[in-house]
Amino acid sequence: MAKSISKPQVLVLGGNFAGLGAAQKIRDYAGDACDITVIDRKGYLDFIPNIPLEVFEGRDPAVTMHMNLVDVLAKDDIDFKQAEITGIDIAAKTVQMRPSERPGAPQYTMGYDYVVIALGARLAYDDIEGFAEYGHTVSDAFHANKMIDYLKNDYQGGPIVVGSDRFEQGHQGRPDWLPTALAACEGPPVEVSLSLAHWLEQNGKGGAKNITIFTPAELIAEDAGEKVVEQLLEAAGSMGFGYVNKVEGIKRLTKDGIEFTDGRSLPAEMKVIFPNWKPHAFLKGLPVSDEVGFVITDMRMRNPDHPEVFACGDAAAITVPKLGAIGHQECDVVGRQIAGDLGKLSSAEANKEWHPEVVCIGDMGGGKAFYIHANSWFGGETQELRMGKIPYMQKVAYKELFFRNKGRVPSWGVPLAEWSAETLIRA
Ligand SMILES: Cc1cc2nc3c(=O)[nH]c(=O)nc-3n(C[C@H](O)[C@H](O)[C@H](O)COP(=O)(O)OP(=O)(O)OC[C@H]3O[C@@H](n4cnc5c(N)ncnc54)[C@H](O)[C@@H]3O)c2cc1C
Repeated sequence: MAKSISKPQVLVLGGNFAGLGAAQKIRDYAGDACDITVIDRKGYLDFIPNIPLEVFEGRDPAVTMHMNLVDVLAKDDIDFKQAEITGIDIAAKTVQMRPSERPGAPQYTMGYDYVVIALGARLAYDDIEGFAEYGHTVSDAFHANKMIDYLKNDYQGGPIVVGSDRFEQGHQGRPDWLPTALAACEGPPVEVSLSLAHWLEQNGKGGAKNITIFTPAELIAEDAGEKVVEQLLEAAGSMGFGYVNKVEGIKRLTKDGIEFTDGRSLPAEMKVIFPNWKPHAFLKGLPVSDEVGFVITDMRMRNPDHPEVFACGDAAAITVPKLGAIGHQECDVVGRQIAGDLGKLSSAEANKEWHPEVVCIGDMGGGKAFYIHANSWFGGETQELRMGKIPYMQKVAYKELFFRNKGRVPSWGVPLAEWSAETLIRA
């Protein structure tokens, strides 16, 4: 559809969970009061949280976890541009981009009335010495498939380490209530340890005793709350996993092991690593970013100095831990705020308070999963952990619902998941 010059122009930068979610929520709440354009370098959504489950169950996540973005957006009259974003000029209210369908395209500039920065973060594996030669991971299909090939063909049954590098969180503009996280997202290392142990058993290559889980922090997955982590560690310990905390960060990976920045090291034939979540280089130094490059917002996901600039998902400084579930909650906030500005929601509806929550379901292999629901990281009382078949079914069903409804998870989806896990499974 042709752009209207009379309507406010909303640019959403990034089209994965946060970008798609924000664009849909803006359309839902603001109706046709604005034009919306999503810009991403790729034309599909990558359903990252289920990549480990897919690969351990023998499916290629590149086949099963990509959802076409362009037709999904078109259904809501949202334009899509496939381009690499190379810069944002906050004062001029413009975005610079280079079309990414074919190499050789020149750079273009596009203006906005509102911009939503939903560009996620760089997973900085390339900052870890030895990762390319000796590291494995599961955050994209390439690496997940490479890892499963290694396990099937080369792994000799030796020690395995699974854990995270140190996360560098910014301080500038950070609210007092938000703690410092030493790892960006520790659901995945817990999930991968459990499901990898199951895979090793199934394939006659060992089990939990092969694996040591490490964390730079005092406690792994500390955003889940002390009570939850205590229960998780007790369960993991009884299964035979090793556990090492306070490693500070990763110094290097070598053929035979891993060295930590605190001077300790562990022998390891296989190293499964989650890196620092690092902001994209062009965000660092912008007047809306903290000293690291994450975008500063208030609880309405709006930059305090530039109210036309929003951020949500992993790119936002207040999204800690870097969890898709938190980004999902933030998309609703962005949609309401922009609709309020455009006169489509009352101020009470637009400014509805948001209370962040950690909701995380991780595969354990064998048709079981763990379910975490907590807000203690944000000062609340909730700390729920459940394990079993129901969370596994929820993890698979959530992805099915997401793809079937083209990203629009019904409003009852998450509350139903919470209710069923917390009431049907004994704590
Ligand atoms: C292995 C793993 C398992 C996980 N499991 C869970 C889980 O169970 N539950 C959960 O809630 N979270 C989970 N997470 C975290 C979750 O994946 C992220 O929080 C989520 O993907 C963040 O969404 P986002 O849209 O903010 O960023 P991203 O998903 O990173 O998307 C950013 C988008 O921006 C685009 N982009 C970036 N830079 C540019 C550029 N310069 N130009 C154009 N486009 C650009 C990218 O192509 C991408 O589409 C997991 C993460 C990992 C790695």
